[in-house]
Amino acid sequence: MALERDVYKALEDVVGPENISEDPVVIESYPFPIRKATTGEDTYLPRFEAITLPKDTAEVQALVKLCNKHGIQYKASSTGWLYCDPTGPGCIKMDLRRMNRILEINEKSMYAVVEPYVIYGQLQAELMKRGLNCNVTGAGSNCSALPLAAHVNLGHLSQSGSYGERNQLALEWVTGDGEIVRMGSLGSLDEWFCGDGPGPSLRGIIRGNTVPLGGLGVFTKAAQKVYHWAGPARFPMEGVCPNYTPSYIPPGFMIRYLSFENVDKLIEAVQKIGESEIAFELMGFNTAMMASNAATDNEEDIKYYKQFSEQVQGPGFMIEIMGNSPRDFEYKKRVLEIIMEETGAWSLKPVEDPEMGRGFLWRFIRTVASIRETTRATGWGGGTVGGTDLFPLMTRYIQHSSYLKEDLVKQGLLLDDACYPFVQSIEHGHTGHGEILIRYTPQSPDHIERVQGMLDREANKTAIEGRFGVPQHVWSDKLHDMYGPHTCNYHLWLRKIKKTFDPNQSSESSNYITAKE
Ligand SMILES: Cc1cc2nc3c(=O)[nH]c(=O)nc-3n(C[C@H](O)[C@H](O)[C@H](O)COP(=O)(O)OP(=O)(O)OC[C@H]3O[C@@H](n4cnc5c(N)ncnc54)[C@H](O)[C@@H]3O)c2cc1C
Repeated sequence: MALERDVYKALEDVVGPENISEDPVVIESYPFPIRKATTGEDTYLPRFEAITLPKDTAEVQALVKLCNKHGIQYKASSTGWLYCDPTGPGCIKMDLRRMNRILEINEKSMYAVVEPYVIYGQLQAELMKRGLNCNVTGAGSNCSALPLAAHVNLGHLSQSGSYGERNQLALEWVTGDGEIVRMGSLGSLDEWFCGDGPGPSLRGIIRGNTVPLGGLGVFTKAAQKVYHWAGPARFPMEGVCPNYTPSYIPPGFMIRYLSFENVDKLIEAVQKIGESEIAFELMGFNTAMMASNAATDNEEDIKYYKQFSEQVQGPGFMIEIMGNSPRDFEYKKRVLEIIMEETGAWSLKPVEDPEMGRGFLWRFIRTVASIRETTRATGWGGGTVGGTDLFPLMTRYIQHSSYLKEDLVKQGLLLDDACYPFVQSIEHGHTGHGEILIRYTPQSPDHIERVQGMLDREANKTAIEGRFGVPQHVWSDKLHDMYGPHTCNYHLWLRKIKKTFDPNQSSESSNYITAKE
């Protein structure tokens, strides 16, 4: 379905002819490819009718109003990493890549204000020059630094740098029907330092368990909390991609991978480390993820995995310590030693080796190896995404999927890599988030269904029957309608929010919730 000419012309008048296209060459470069298990062919999600590149909030607002007026939909994206496709015809793309400025870094009040196409890699580099650091979405520092663009905005640094829901400060938002809302202190004082006021707060409206994934208008500027950084203004990098690492571990930093006899001991260690607030990062990577993080090809991946898995005693996590002074560093290391003794932790030797350790340190702080950690070796990846709640609760929830994974590995349906769940600690153990990752090459038409389909069904059943809360894979009408009745009918309220702020359903919301009756 091509756009009516008068509609195309109206959109073009807003952004200029240089910044709109319906050329198939441009349109075809946007959809996310999906390989069909049945035929092995690549297929694509529905195409956008046109691609637009607005340059500022005024243009975004004008496009949104036109879409509402002409009964078409729009979908915004920041970097376009994931969840950015339409599910049907009649939708235009709002690619925000021209909105790429860091607007403010406030060193005194410790916040940063960005537009959507600033990536974390840029923001973090600028912050480090000023003795500051930010949380980085675990998807990678290649993703938008807007805390509202990421799915949840959890990441490797969440132990000390929290995540989107908590870091979000003032915000500029073009609602589904084109109103500009200046949320928090921005609305009342024209300042960015607070997301909640003075005045009423809308933080619970613009995001809940996850962000609206494009289904509730467009976020055009956002402020987020930033944190102290005791490391160098620049990392001393050497080598050529993918083999580049810092030439030394900066003073005051230490990285270890600790493994435990069982999950109870691991939980005890995470709690003690959290209570003592000694960790800069604490990420529950299993040995397969550590191997992939270090490896630059599949052969290396398998080699490291064998090496690491022979040297651990059970589930584990990666921990980084950052000392604010030499004394603080010595103190934190000593506390960690005591906790290791108390919980029987083993340290993985290759990570202690500075040659390897400095590479890990860099990749985890700059978050540059997420794709390596999640998607390689077989070509297909997937798994179960848990929620964000008490660390032990989320560990127990995701452990269920790890038992299922073990069964699937025994049946030869998955790559035989670590079956320990991957649980990450947030805000020094205040909360946790768990996932289990799988890798496989589909061998037959029903392979995906037997693996991912079964994991999804079981994960939903476990979450609902076991009262584990709403996991973060829950988006779309189907899933919200499944979970809502077990969770105070939240889905009815979410739908009311959608109807109120996007009455014409212009903001494409297949990954959020629709206003259906
Ligand atoms: C390997 C891998 C690992 C991942 N790990 C994590 C993780 O650890 N933590 C996590 O939170 N997520 C993770 N994700 C999920 C998700 O892909 C990313 O959070 C997100 O896509 C990051 O890219 P982005 O911030 O540039 O947003 P985009 O990819 O551009 O967009 C993401 C969603 O937000 C919407 N959106 C983007 N910008 C705007 C805007 N300005 N206004 C309105 N809507 C907008 C889009 O429509 C889309 O639905 C991961 C994904 C992959 C592939």
